[in-house]
Amino acid sequence: MGENNRTDLKLTGGCQCGARRYEATVVSDKGYFCHCRMCQKAVGHVHAAFFMIDVGAVTWFGKEPAYFHSSKLAKRGFCPDCGTPLSFQYLDAGHMDLTVGSLDDPSALRLAGHGGVESRVDSFVDPGGLSESETEDSADYVAKWHAAYGPDSAPGPRA
Ligand SMILES: [Zn+2]
Ligand SMILES: [Zn+2]
Repeated sequence: MGENNRTDLKLTGGCQCGARRYEATVVSDKGYFCHCRMCQKAVGHVHAAFFMIDVGAVTWFGKEPAYFHSSKLAKRGFCPDCGTPLSFQYLDAGHMDLTVGSLDDPSALRLAGHGGVESRVDSFVDPGGLSESETEDSADYVAKWHAAYGPDSAPGPRA
């Protein structure tokens, strides 16, 4: 797939205060924005910028992140000392996301798509013609959410 699928790209990053550091190996230079309400709350911005890796492809140095369970389905890693958002992970998944902004060199990756666009704040974001998906486009995710919160519930912040 040419330049779009580099292999074994080693990335380093960490939180703002330096107490949590990581090294991650990715097989693609693609990142994405998630505009869902939970990601907006988690990062305090109109979207989160993430890149996906296998759970086993990240090594933490120094202190481990602390975790906030943003729903029964997922946890978000952050530094409890400085507050930097670091990761997102479904509890039953073999892959996870790290925040692009926590990389030592965020420009190593490129934006490749948009998720959670049902709550995208359009005045802040130019989609740039990239792929888009809504949170509830994933039937598997919606089924898990209904199992956790009931058939009349919809994915979103709990409070
Ligand atoms: Zn920190
Ligand atoms: Zn999201």
